[in-house]
Amino acid sequence: MSSLPVLVLNSGSSSIKFSAYEAGAGEREKLFEGAVDGIGTDLGKFWMKDAAGRKLLDQTRSLPNRAVAFKLVADALHSSSFPSPAAIGHRMVSGGPTVLENQLITPDLIDEMERYTAFAPLHTPIAVYIMREALRLFPDVPNFVCLDSYFHRTMPEVVSHMPIPEEYSAMGVRRFGAHGISYESIVYQLQSNVPERLIVAHLGNGASISAIRGGWCLDTSMGLTPTGGLISGTRTGDIDPGVLLFILHKIAATTTNATEAADALETVVSKRSGLLGVSGLSNDMRDLREAIAAGNAKARLAVDKFVWTIRKWIGGLVAELGGVDMLVFTGGIGENDIDSRAEICAGLGALGIELDRERNNVRGAATISAEGSRVTVRVIPPAEDLMIVNHVVRLMGK
Ligand code: AMP
Repeated sequence: MSSLPVLVLNSGSSSIKFSAYEAGAGEREKLFEGAVDGIGTDLGKFWMKDAAGRKLLDQTRSLPNRAVAFKLVADALHSSSFPSPAAIGHRMVSGGPTVLENQLITPDLIDEMERYTAFAPLHTPIAVYIMREALRLFPDVPNFVCLDSYFHRTMPEVVSHMPIPEEYSAMGVRRFGAHGISYESIVYQLQSNVPERLIVAHLGNGASISAIRGGWCLDTSMGLTPTGGLISGTRTGDIDPGVLLFILHKIAATTTNATEAADALETVVSKRSGLLGVSGLSNDMRDLREAIAAGNAKARLAVDKFVWTIRKWIGGLVAELGGVDMLVFTGGIGENDIDSRAEICAGLGALGIELDRERNNVRGAATISAEGSRVTVRVIPPAEDLMIVNHVVRLMGK
């Protein structure tokens, strides 16, 4: 295949990230990347950098809504300064129970994925909006969806099935997992060094952890939605369902509208809980570390809970895998928060996990386990955009 400029679009609840790669046979050259951030504010940021990290654009703009934000991106990409994309890859957290394969996007496919907005309520609305806009603004360019849930499709039914009545299972309610493109990119980067029993902890503002056997997903902490599993920046993670009922009863005392009540509950479990809820301060690990240094007990409790949950999950995943050969940390916290890695691994010697203090004193890719550690512990930044480009190139070749 000749060289192919591929654009990657990755939308979050208040941002749209994008990057472009020149994809030749086996070659992937990053051309540029950028983002519009702060959608819904007067002080939104719009920036682009070339592959060497030089700023091509750096603007502060009013970004009242996602329409204005995406129009900025599309206008910039249509200008003569950038190669027009020959294909576009979209990251999608979940396509619901009917869209499980990465594939060409059509208007019908977007409608189908939108039916399952409840499976990724913070991500799906903006992602489907961007897909429709991309089809409109780039009418001659094929667009492909790349699903986070795709990597987790190999989980056995005993893992993915939820203990609920059959009528809800039949509606597609089961564990799908998320961060799949990140996990896939770790396996991809390890290439022939993928161990038989691998645990990867993707610790960012959203946090999850997966057990991977021989390169295939066996289990992951997130469930139907990214709200399940580990405690995240603003999400509860797994929680006694009785707590949800307690909160719902409290909300029901303030409204008789069931949809309004469900939305209010969604806000509590997805936007006001986790590290933010426990600390009452911030969902950002850097803020929490600063507060801990200043003696803030609630920040300490929030981070202790985060660490404790991850340690518990590691224990469970080791049991599922029948041991572990390698533990990988990735995501903003996994890559950068030296203390979180040290606290998570402390006392896991019984599982063969031992960190080297000096080696762990690092940000970015490194091997951080001690010389005699039975389990190799590594830090590997994710390469999600590259993974999406790989899928697009594969699908273009079909
Ligand atoms: P992500 O969602 O992957 O971008 O990760 C965001 C999280 O990474 C936030 O909690 C940040 O505080 C955390 N993070 C980023 N850089 C650092 C750093 N240098 N030290 C500690 N935490 C960091």
